[in-house]
Amino acid sequence: DRKFFVGGNWKMNGDKKSIDEIVAFLSKGPISANVEVVVAPPYCYLQYSREKLPSNIQVAAQNCYKEKEGAFTGEISPYMIKDVGGTWVITGHSERRHVIGETDEFIAQKTKFALEAGLGVIPCVGEKLEEREANQTLDVINRQMKALADKITDWSRVVIAYEPVWAIGTGKTASPEQAQEVHEKIREWLRKTVSADVADRTRIIYGGSVKGSNAAELAKKPDIDGFLVGGASLKPEFLEIVNAQG
Ligand code: 13P
Repeated sequence: DRKFFVGGNWKMNGDKKSIDEIVAFLSKGPISANVEVVVAPPYCYLQYSREKLPSNIQVAAQNCYKEKEGAFTGEISPYMIKDVGGTWVITGHSERRHVIGETDEFIAQKTKFALEAGLGVIPCVGEKLEEREANQTLDVINRQMKALADKITDWSRVVIAYEPVWAIGTGKTASPEQAQEVHEKIREWLRKTVSADVADRTRIIYGGSVKGSNAAELAKKPDIDGFLVGGASLKPEFLEIVNAQG
């Protein structure tokens, strides 16, 4: 009974005009009541998006800092995200890890801090192509998961996103079997390392070239509890993904 969870990560895209268009199709729906839907606009459009979106859609930030306030020029506090109506934050997205250079430790710190601040958190894990080819997929995932698990005490507002780097923005979606295999391993890892209860309750969502045309097949897999969608979350096709569980 893990509620299906679909996130739309808008990344560094859009302006008020294009957000109005997204709001229009999201408002029209339909959106199944059995799905939790969250969209993540760029910081500067968080409040604008929150004010325009219907109440059945939650708003996330794409990142945050690990402190409440202070001399951290250019950073954004989880408390600020909450103050403008955000209820979730994505941490450790592969673009933060590999383009910006964030470490496992830093990502774990901000995950812990955002949870303590009262946000839901979507930490992302995933291997690069060369790591998969060298059979290091599970080593990488386990290392990323361990850094998180060392700091997380309350898992009830955590949704893990498995996003293989080679599948992000490339059109090369992981096959349902490839995704299921890793999701199952992440759940096993949680069972062994954290608890059976956390393993059973924690949603593990897949991201990487999810489209309207492949979402339903992926959603059938037992350990795939939803999606984190990039490019397709900017288009009406996002609704097909939101309703992929049928
Ligand atoms: P795409 O859906 O564009 O491949 O991006 C996936 C992603 O990174 C979501 O966070």
